Amino acid sequence: MRLLITIIGLLAIVFTACSNSAPTIETTLIPTATASAISTATGTPTLTIMPTPTVTASPTATWTPTATWTPTATWTPTIPKPVLFDGISAYEILLIQMEFGPRWPGSPGHALVGDYIIDELGRQGWEVEEQGFDYMGLQGRNIIGRNNVGAGPVIILGAHYDTRKIADQTAGSTEPVPGAVDGASGVAVLLELARTIDLIEVDHEIWLAFFDVEDQGNGGMLGFDYIIGSTYMARTLEVMPQAMVLVDMIGDADQQLYYEGNSAQMLRHNLWRIASDLGYGDYFIPEHRHTMLDDHLPFVNMGIPAVDIIDFDYPYWHTVEDTADKASPDSLERVGRTLEEWLENRLPS
Ligand SMILES: [Zn+2]
Repeated sequence: MRLLITIIGLLAIVFTACSNSAPTIETTLIPTATASAISTATGTPTLTIMPTPTVTASPTATWTPTATWTPTATWTPTIPKPVLFDGISAYEILLIQMEFGPRWPGSPGHALVGDYIIDELGRQGWEVEEQGFDYMGLQGRNIIGRNNVGAGPVIILGAHYDTRKIADQTAGSTEPVPGAVDGASGVAVLLELARTIDLIEVDHEIWLAFFDVEDQGNGGMLGFDYIIGSTYMARTLEVMPQAMVLVDMIGDADQQLYYEGNSAQMLRHNLWRIASDLGYGDYFIPEHRHTMLDDHLPFVNMGIPAVDIIDFDYPYWHTVEDTADKASPDSLERVGRTLEEWLENRLPS
């Protein structure tokens, strides 16, 4: 080996010497070893050889990961994705209520729909109060869902959940009203709002009020009056809400929502303006048409700005034909999105 190194060294010297006149040779002759230092002083050249590796490692196996990484926490975005009110989802809530059957006070369907509302509110993270009251030998039950408690002034959204016992607008009928539009549609809007209001955007405390014993007056149930549950709730309020909005009979597929005569004018104007901004101007018509005895009235009478969003041009009102096919997801969505926009972006503090 030593001899070989010496020979290589001598050759290198020879060619280094020659390189003065032929500089290109050096670069072609030293590829297998690098001469890092050449001493010509003693005539005994010493070379430091940097050998090129003679062994190349060939991979003998492919790497197989032995574990997958599992995230231990979910990433929470700082800007929450807005959840939009969905008409189809609301319509499904309407259909669920219809499966309970007619829902007049004291009927099996009435108890079922009340329990369903309570379950749904709880499932969506709302605090639930059952507000019992006695009326005509019956135990009435308002249901109030609360959220954003303490965040600001109270806003009440309301709807009645009972349905009329006698369909007295169907000639000679003693059958109950199925209550798809007059009952289920208002509840559907409120429960879909419970799911979709982006509460972080709302600097108000929100109450969803489901009124009992609204619809039995004038022959619905013997001796009963209208708006019993809402009257009880308004009388027993312990805080003064900033505003109250009622939704009643809003699910009509042939939807026309006119100004209602007992409603607070400024709030009514604002809501119809929002609907117009959302493209619903053909359905929210800013002209006065009906004046209603409805669940907003006890709040109006207490000086609370209250509005009734109602479609009273409904040919199946208090008939046996008030069935789910007369309602539509689009109608529910127009009302729901208007309220959603009002609560999230247009409500004065
Ligand atoms: Zn009714």
